[in-house]
Amino acid sequence: MFVEPHIGREEGGKGKGWIELICGSMFSGKTEELIRRLNRALIAKQKIEIFKPKLDTRYDESEVVSHNKTKIRSTPVDFAEDILLFSGNSEVVGIDEAQFFDAEIVNVVNTLADQGKRVIIAGLDMDFSGKAFGSMPELMAIAEYVTKVHAICVKCGGIASYSYRLSEEKQKVMLGEKDKYEPRCRKCFNAP
Ligand SMILES: [Zn+2]
Repeated sequence: MFVEPHIGREEGGKGKGWIELICGSMFSGKTEELIRRLNRALIAKQKIEIFKPKLDTRYDESEVVSHNKTKIRSTPVDFAEDILLFSGNSEVVGIDEAQFFDAEIVNVVNTLADQGKRVIIAGLDMDFSGKAFGSMPELMAIAEYVTKVHAICVKCGGIASYSYRLSEEKQKVMLGEKDKYEPRCRKCFNAP
């Protein structure tokens, strides 16, 4: 389990900034891990703000909700730059579904960390075709800490890192639940 390396506030009340990234396939528990970290910061009475892209409206308009229905209040935004406008004097900034944000997200999270904030990002590292998703590769490169979480392959019970799409649709962004995707290991993902 991820253990925060240096969480204390510096003198003057502002913490040293850094970026944490949580990635993995669908059903790997990324959002649960994001919520776990944010909830502990909340309990410590740190000021937190959470953002997600507006197009992800699967469950609730203003809450980050994981598949197992754990939830935490968040702000849906249209553009990555909006995060800078709305993060104000927060100490911790959470970002869910980071793969759906525009490319500006990379500069945005660097700016937040440079301002002294702890930034926690969660997102899909690969799309349904097994290709890197959106700005996730750049985000992984600039993050101080990267955690890759895994699901269990529904075919063989092995460790799954792919999100296999069950339908024939080809568009990259297709929001879905358990009926549209299933987690698979490399071997089962590639099997005909
Ligand atoms: Zn498998």
